[in-house]
Amino acid sequence: MIAHVALPIPVRNTFSYSVPDAWVPFIRTFLRAKVPFRTRDTVGYIVGIEEGHREGLKEIHEVIDPFPLIDENALQLAEWASHYYIAPQGIVMGYAVPPGLPIEQYIKIGALSETDTLNNLTLKKACKMFGRTVVFEHYNQGLLRLYDSFTNKDFLPCNYEKLTTAEEKILFLGSIHDRLRYYTEIIAHHIAQDENVLIVVSNHHTIGRLYFEKLSEVFPGKVIRYGISVTSKKRMEAYFRARNERGLIILGSRSCLFLSVFRNGLIIVERPEEDEYRNEEGFKFNAVHLAIRRAEIEHIHIILGSISPPLEVYKHAEDGEFRIIEKTYLPKKQCVEIVSEKGISTLGRLPEDLTTILSKAVERKEKVAIYTPRKDYSSHITCLDCKRLFLCTVCGGGLSYRKDTNLLSCTSCGRSFSYESRCRQCGSRLIQFSHVGAEYIEQTLRQAFPGVTIISAIRENLYEHKEAFAMLSREEPAFIIGTQALTKPYGLKADKLVMIEWEELKRIGGYRAEEKMFHILANLIDVLEPNEIYPVMVRKMKVDLTMFLDLRTFYRAELEKRKNAQFPPFTRLFLLEIEKEKEPVGTKLVEKIKTLADQFGITQYITGPLIQRRKKYRWRMILRDNEDQLHDFLNTVSDYPGVRVEADPISI
Ligand SMILES: [Zn+2]
Ligand SMILES: [Zn+2]
Repeated sequence: MIAHVALPIPVRNTFSYSVPDAWVPFIRTFLRAKVPFRTRDTVGYIVGIEEGHREGLKEIHEVIDPFPLIDENALQLAEWASHYYIAPQGIVMGYAVPPGLPIEQYIKIGALSETDTLNNLTLKKACKMFGRTVVFEHYNQGLLRLYDSFTNKDFLPCNYEKLTTAEEKILFLGSIHDRLRYYTEIIAHHIAQDENVLIVVSNHHTIGRLYFEKLSEVFPGKVIRYGISVTSKKRMEAYFRARNERGLIILGSRSCLFLSVFRNGLIIVERPEEDEYRNEEGFKFNAVHLAIRRAEIEHIHIILGSISPPLEVYKHAEDGEFRIIEKTYLPKKQCVEIVSEKGISTLGRLPEDLTTILSKAVERKEKVAIYTPRKDYSSHITCLDCKRLFLCTVCGGGLSYRKDTNLLSCTSCGRSFSYESRCRQCGSRLIQFSHVGAEYIEQTLRQAFPGVTIISAIRENLYEHKEAFAMLSREEPAFIIGTQALTKPYGLKADKLVMIEWEELKRIGGYRAEEKMFHILANLIDVLEPNEIYPVMVRKMKVDLTMFLDLRTFYRAELEKRKNAQFPPFTRLFLLEIEKEKEPVGTKLVEKIKTLADQFGITQYITGPLIQRRKKYRWRMILRDNEDQLHDFLNTVSDYPGVRVEADPISI
């Protein structure tokens, strides 16, 4: 017997192995198997079986599972994702059935005869003591049952009945309070029908935590968490309970999309606009797309809830694919622009209007949230004598400075260098730091407003900051300075919101820049509920804030722009990256790819190649338009060593 195995490596081909006689009775498709590959063992997925024998094949070492661990629907989802994201089946399966889950530690054996030595052992231990073939043989003969130690229910292949609920896609537009109220109502309805509900959040520490607490108050003991940030035991508990119980709310991050859920009646995706829904390693996908596809495959309801949905989702909703429920939109706020001629730098001062506003806020004992897109002290360092910009000496990338560590770090290659307070080119000590960020603002305000509480929110660890919350609850003025972390719902409220050089996102955000600015502004207003907003902008980058405060106006204008430029959501983009250590080798490969593109007749859809001479030589091409035309081409080139294909890249 020959088994075809998909391996979690970036090639589309499967690999053939011969199956030793001892394993023949246990071989089935979609089981995990341990196989030798190159010089070591690796876990792959059996995707095909063939009778017969072929010389020279290596043998499968062992079959890991007694039956496929994911259900038919999840397999269908994995197949779809593999095609849609041009990702090899083995890599998608490696994500869907993570080999690292310690499932066997929690599966126990119940032998029919109590004297059987296997009785009450964990599957892991039994396999170790008696060998996997012995255990599997007993299992196949019906001499033992498997059950998990959390629910004590039989561990069986998932073969779920189809629910008869009507399927509907809903885009819920509303504030965080409205969303919580709406979700609670719908969840109660599904739970009353003995169904389970899957809620997908972008992040367990912030949004996940808030929903866990709030929903646990209403549905005590019913909310369970599944994701990489909970302990392995908790994760396994969620795994088995979701499989066996009913009336649960499973709160998961993007890794829960392939989780088998018994009587799954509803999927909720909270804040689908978050970039964290992108999985950036190995299998690159967008969890929101996968959630929508999963609901279609399972024929169940899906709700996307947000105050600022992704432009793509909004377009689908306007096209009639989603029903829009609009609760409230952002209440009108008082908005005062502070426009300066030059950006804030270490040689200048904070704009006077800003200082006045902050002083008044301190007098009135108000809380002020200050947003900036940058976390470091400065990300633009120039010598005022020789006018040269500080650049990475290794790769030529831009440098960013952190004062607390006194380090310059390269934004391209990640290397760090110590800062010597002078120019490396001419030795001058006249150095200007501009494009300042949270660290600089914090330091400047500490000097200008001694005694005022200042809290920094640049990483998402604010929840662990108990004292910070205690300080903020007092009747005292305070400044909360942060980057994107400020948009997360911590329960912090601010009287005023200051946005320092928020418009800079236009320079660094690619084609989605304005959409991103919109998401940030909307979520800051949603979670902080300020009464007044003060954008501090540089004149030549200045934007019209009122454009960003009305959802329909903003989305319609943005869609029009994207349509004219033929950008997503009107077309899909694919990024092709070619990386080689030697330039001639790379150029040859680029030529080969261009010739192939000619043969496929798609040359007109390619922008590039653009060459970057950094540590390695790298070429980038952007391909757009009809994915069907490109699909075969992309599948072919993605198998070439040194070539990487990314579907729907977000930072172009
Ligand atoms: Zn210099
Ligand atoms: Zn560098």
